[in-house]
Amino acid sequence: PYTTLPALIAIHGKDRAEHPALIEGEQRMTYRQLDAEANRVAAALQRDGVEPGDAIAICGSNSINYAVLFVGALRAGVTVAPLAPSSTPDSLLGMLADSAAKLYFADASVQSAMAGVRDRLSMPLISMDNSGSETHYSDWLAEAGAVPTAVEITPEMTFNVIYSSGTTGEPKGIVQSHGMRWSHIQRGLPFGYGPDCRTLISTPLYSNTTLVSFLPSIGLGGTVVLMAKFDAERYLKLAEQHRITHTMLVPVQYQRIMARPDFDSYDLDSYVMKFSTSAPFHAELKADILKRWPGGLIEFYGMTEGGGSCMLAAHTYPDKLATVGMPLDGHDMRVIDEDGVELPRGEIGEVVGHSPAMMAGYLNKPEKTAEAEWYDSTGKRFIRTGDVGRFDEEGFLTLMDRRKDMIISGGFNIYPSDLEAELRQHPDLQDVTVVGVASTSWGETPVAYVVPFAGRDVDAEQVQAWFNERVGKTQRLNRVIITDELPRSAIGKVLKRELRDQFLAENG
Ligand code: ATP
Ligand code: MG
Repeated sequence: PYTTLPALIAIHGKDRAEHPALIEGEQRMTYRQLDAEANRVAAALQRDGVEPGDAIAICGSNSINYAVLFVGALRAGVTVAPLAPSSTPDSLLGMLADSAAKLYFADASVQSAMAGVRDRLSMPLISMDNSGSETHYSDWLAEAGAVPTAVEITPEMTFNVIYSSGTTGEPKGIVQSHGMRWSHIQRGLPFGYGPDCRTLISTPLYSNTTLVSFLPSIGLGGTVVLMAKFDAERYLKLAEQHRITHTMLVPVQYQRIMARPDFDSYDLDSYVMKFSTSAPFHAELKADILKRWPGGLIEFYGMTEGGGSCMLAAHTYPDKLATVGMPLDGHDMRVIDEDGVELPRGEIGEVVGHSPAMMAGYLNKPEKTAEAEWYDSTGKRFIRTGDVGRFDEEGFLTLMDRRKDMIISGGFNIYPSDLEAELRQHPDLQDVTVVGVASTSWGETPVAYVVPFAGRDVDAEQVQAWFNERVGKTQRLNRVIITDELPRSAIGKVLKRELRDQFLAENG
């Protein structure tokens, strides 16, 4: 039966009162404390006139206060808008205005969350880490009552608004309801999330990637260990120290962890299930993890908007590591062409998905919402993913690229993901990506940005020649550019848009 996260926390606050709910560094909070603090946050919001259906915004690194604020706001029926600290001041102000946040909680240790916006805010600012000259969170809370007025929370009410990570364009506020989040909490059960789980979280709490692991962990009464900032060595030390059972990491984090020469010296036997999502997770990396890291490995493919989600239990299908698996139960996924016509299985096109956890829409952007929807002939609603892929005979989905990243060169479709897979075979390259740039003769042409392993002497023209000998004529690279690091979003996605802009700026 439907329930809500704040109601579950109240139950754990009684039944699992002394069990640790949240751990960050030396700080620990039990369920009794979490429940009581969430009550005070709800009471403080009510005192300040923040009503059910209103929003507050939070911007900062992972901390216990962040998690408490989130739960407390939900208890008051208030929507949370978690904002990415890596956003520019203008974009932060845009999201604050779009979400109509009544209060802005920011973390002064995250400079960008405050500098540049503090003088231009139209709502009160509260310092979540009790620093600086702003109102301190602890003072804001100090006078609040211990018992808020009870608020009934229905499945339709908004849980949070997450601004899409902006990998491909301007951020859009994705509205997620309590009902949708309840389905995310329940979905944790078959993966072993529950009272005995200890989940290590090292991705930022503002992202859906993190929340789909955080919410079942605390919703089902487990323990969450928060990392404010990811670091591969610290991750491994915390994993060992806390006997971690569950984790959600993005592929680039797995890559950094597996690359550590001391990886095999850590005791990771406590792991039950590891998850990955958000960006391409290469088959070679999955295979390496399966071999050297105990416990299961699950890749999710999905988007904050909801719609379909695919899952690959890599430990069960070691021969399907190049795919993102099959749609979850209750999820329906299809492939459509440029004109929105459904394609037969086996053909390549844009992936669309229907699920119990679809967003109601983008906040304040009905035309963007309409663009994101697709209806089948029976009128069933699907969300367009913007990703190009193909289902095989057995129903496993192989993803190629985002539609916006596909390259059309001399009339041929080039999938950067194909070229990247080939390029990764080069023994000296640690990281690679391929983008399309404008070309007078071909319309567009592929250019590779590559990062060599530290200390290797790599020649761009030699890499290009090596590559072009291995592929067909239409797939040849026009240029290879050596770089120290690929630009990535805070959640670890390669920002191809930035590379295209950079190429244009440097090459006219
Ligand atoms: P924006 O929509 O603003 O450009 P975004 O799409 O990166 O941002 P998210 O909702 O966080 O925002 O990410 C969803 C996207 O991430 C998917 O559409 C897909 O391109 C990519 N993705 C998610 N999971 C996987 C996966 N397992 N493998 C490859 N790509 C993935
Ligand atoms: Mg998207």
